[in-house]
Amino acid sequence: MNYKITLSSDEVPKNWYNILADLPCELPAPKNSEGKNQIADLEKAFTKEALKQEFAQDRYIKIPNEVRELYMKIGRPSPLFRATRLEEALNTPAKIYYKREDTSPTGSHKLNSAIPQAYFAKKEGVERLTTETGAGQWGTALSLASNMVGLDCTVYMVKVSFNQKPDRKNIMNIYDGNVFASPSENTEIGRKILADNPDHPGSLGVAISEAMEEALLNDDVKYSLGSVLNHVMLHQTIIGQELKVQLEKAEKEPDVMIACAGGGSNLAGCLFPFIKDKIDGNSDTEFIAVEPSACPTLTEGSYDYDFGDINGFTPMLKMFTLGHDFVAPSVHAGGLRYHGMSPIVSLLTKEGYITPTSAHQKDVFDAGIMFARNEGIVPAPETTHAIKVAIDEALKCKETGEEKTIVFNFSGHGMLDLKGYASYFEGTLQNAK
Ligand SMILES: *Cc1c(COP(=O)(O)O)cnc(C)c1O
Repeated sequence: MNYKITLSSDEVPKNWYNILADLPCELPAPKNSEGKNQIADLEKAFTKEALKQEFAQDRYIKIPNEVRELYMKIGRPSPLFRATRLEEALNTPAKIYYKREDTSPTGSHKLNSAIPQAYFAKKEGVERLTTETGAGQWGTALSLASNMVGLDCTVYMVKVSFNQKPDRKNIMNIYDGNVFASPSENTEIGRKILADNPDHPGSLGVAISEAMEEALLNDDVKYSLGSVLNHVMLHQTIIGQELKVQLEKAEKEPDVMIACAGGGSNLAGCLFPFIKDKIDGNSDTEFIAVEPSACPTLTEGSYDYDFGDINGFTPMLKMFTLGHDFVAPSVHAGGLRYHGMSPIVSLLTKEGYITPTSAHQKDVFDAGIMFARNEGIVPAPETTHAIKVAIDEALKCKETGEEKTIVFNFSGHGMLDLKGYASYFEGTLQNAK
């Protein structure tokens, strides 16, 4: 039996897959809120290539050779593993596979978009990228990618996370990222907030505003986002394209495919190439998005135009949203606490192609620990959401005797997020909501 299905470097996909060419209905465009000019701001804040890709209609977009080579150099294609010990522990006839995005140097899928974003910025003569980070994974990936192509990188990290997660700042510094606790003294908005309240804990909304302000005021600085937007979903599709070849090698067709959903990028990357087949009428695979019950965007939010940030600074996107002023309870899966969702993932959910579900914090940690004890890898708190539902699906197969093929995306490892596991063992883990 082949427990680990690998591909060689030259099997890194040559194109990104753009699902905008195949959507069952048109994606609603972003719009300005009244009296404001945010779309014009976007043109100043983002690289030309990112904006071009955001609205591109070509089904396949060529990956520049230099980017393809960087993907190879960081170890892509990533392996596909069969979870046989987990299957045995569950005593299920189901076959469980997981695509390992934790094997990336920064430990998650985020580098798949950080690399092309940094590459295009460098090509356009940009000197420095700015971004925000909450949990820390995106800031880590962008720090490394910027360093790889010779750009400076400034990361605004929400002050509470900055104080709680010194290891995250440390690793960004190792990759030569410049990390500031947000609100900071660097920007006008930061100084204003600190003048009103020197102890302001920060928020993702404030950090976005600081990172964007720098890009709007300086021609050689651009802003970069790690999820939600179409071009980020696009870059991540190398995951699903590799996975297709790997499943063919394993002679398996997926019956159920699962990913966790924060802003939607690892889900999009893993599932979109397979959702294409369903849109084309060639597949009846079931696609499941898993979110925390503490931040139930797809399962309980409304499908509406809303801002991307708390301050109403960005254009409005049509998406599932809990409202831009929604503040999620502090669950350990920091990457799944966003109030909105990728507009494409939202549309596909509304049209019935993706089935959303939610899971409680205690239950996902149970699943993550069971996984670690059988497969050996400690999953990121975000990833445990996908594991929980994969286990549930495998247990259903035990009831029915079906030998389904279950495939989930292993979005990242949890070696820098051990705090959640510590609370689990201390018995202080809250089952928020
Ligand atoms: C950022 C992150 C997520 C959530 O973001 P998506 O854009 O929804 O993929 C999930 N898992 C890991 C490990 C992450 O770093």
